[in-house]
Formats: sequence, C-alpha cells, structure tokens
Amino acid sequence: MHDLNQLISYQAAPNLLADKNILITGAGDGIGRAAALAYAQHGATVILLGRNEDKLAAVYDDIETSGGPQPVIVALDLEQASSQDYNNLNQEIIESLGGLHGLLHNAGLLGEMKPLAQYSEETFSKVINVNLTSNFLLTKALLPAMQCADSASIVFTSSGVGRKARAYWGAYAISKFAVEGLMQTWADELDETSNIRCNSLNPGATRTRMRQQAYPGETPDKNPLADDIMGAYLFLMGADSHTINGLAINAQ
Ligand code: NDP
Repeated sequence: MHDLNQLISYQAAPNLLADKNILITGAGDGIGRAAALAYAQHGATVILLGRNEDKLAAVYDDIETSGGPQPVIVALDLEQASSQDYNNLNQEIIESLGGLHGLLHNAGLLGEMKPLAQYSEETFSKVINVNLTSNFLLTKALLPAMQCADSASIVFTSSGVGRKARAYWGAYAISKFAVEGLMQTWADELDETSNIRCNSLNPGATRTRMRQQAYPGETPDKNPLADDIMGAYLFLMGADSHTINGLAINAQ
C-alpha cells in the first residue's frame, strides 16, 4: 500500500500506463501539459483536449519527439462545448481507440480575485461552467467509453481553497468545493457497480501561469514545477491505485 501523503515521491514503473488511453483536459499548458507528457512517457496514448490548437500541437510534437505513442488532439473550448460535442467525443474514442482508461479533469479558470460582493455574474457563470459543469457533462458522456475499458480512473482537480475557502477566491473556490461533491457523488454511484474509480487531487502550489496570476507578488521559483508533482498524477492513473475510490488526495 502506498502512503497517500507521500505521493510526490511515488516511483512509477516505466510501463505503468502501457496500452492505456487517457484524456487530459487543458493539456496545452501548465499541469495538464506536464501530465500529458508524463502519461505518454509511461506508455499511454494521450488524448489532448484544449481550446488552443497551437499549444496542443506543440505538446503533440514533444510526445512524438520523445518516442511516446501517437497522441490525439481534440480542440474544444469547455466554456462553449455542448453535450453533443461530448457525446461525439465518446463515440470517436470507442471507434478509434476501443475505450478510455483515464480521464484527468485538469482545465481550470481562476476568474476574479475579489470580494463576492463585487464579483461579476458573467465571470461567476464562466468559472462554474469551465471548472464544474464541464466535469459533470464530460464524465457523463464518456461513461460508455470508460465502461469499454477493463478499468478506468477519473481524476478531478481540486485546490486548497476547494477544501477550506478563503476570502477573494470567489467562484474559483466555490467551483472547487463543488468538484469535490461531484467526485464523491460519482465515486459512490460507480462504486461496486462499475470498473471506474474517482478521486480528487489538489496539486498544491505549482509554478504555472495560474499560480502567477493568483499570486503576482510571489517569487515563482518558490514553488515546484508541474513536472515535479507528477507522482500523484501517475499513481492515480495506474494499477497501483485500483482500490482507491472517493478520496481527496494531495499531490504534495
Ligand atoms: P494554467 O492556467 O497553466 O492551465 C490551465 C489550463 O486549462 C490551460 O491549458 C488552459 O488552456 C485550460 N483551459 C482554461 N479554460 C479552458 C476552456 N474554456 N476550455 C479548454 N481549456 C481551458 O493552470 P494550472 O496548470 O496551474 O492549473 C491546472 C489545474 O490545477 C486547474 O484546475 C487549477 O485550478 C488547478 N490548481 C492549480 C494550482 C497551482 O498552483 N498551479 C493549485 C491548485 C489547483 P489555455 O492554455 O488555452 O488557456
């Protein structure tokens, strides 16, 4: 049994994710990009979902150059996407890959850092849409593809403020709390009725564009790079976590 408080030092077997198909949202930048590269490096065929095709193409090229399995690019803006888009994606995954073994809900928007009393309705619904509603709709649509796999893992991305809220984090904190509830509900419903496990992961302070946006005065190199926190991301997608369901986990 692995110590869930020490996943930063988890050592994944080189072929941990061989023959697995894993979809990552927000795969073009930050933590999502690092996860896509790490999964491909451990043998997975990664489905790179994001709204910026140039960024996805750059990740695709990096994976090809490093000799990983040929990835798939899915250009989709989670703010605009419909259930139909997600259902089409499910169908395409089943037809072209045979099933889905992993789903990393990683894409996220920070929104405004200000008191709720001044928070705009427009940003509130945008943040809830990208950070929460897309997680619900995409999970729902991809269940058939995941049921085609012998086992599957869904990882929802939380945050410290999704477990203890703080002033001025607005819709972001609220969306992350709701993501924890969404994860727990899926986990309970799918437990013992499917081969699908669900957990949430708080990456912790990580050196990305979003962290810089949230803490503009902070020295960036105070925090680890996304590549340095991949232990938990690999653990949750691989067979070593197959009995773990419904837990809120920390990457560092
Ligand atoms: P980044 O801002 O670096 O990356 C966010 C990713 O989400 C980008 O690829 C971005 O695409 C994508 N994205 C945003 N909106 C949409 C959309 N509408 N449709 C599709 N993709 C979208 O952030 P991080 O890598 O830091 O964050 C990744 C996750 O980790 C988030 O869920 C965040 O909340 C969480 N997190 C991060 C922490 C940190 O310290 N970094 C701490 C706690 C949680 P594009 O490049 O096109 O903008």
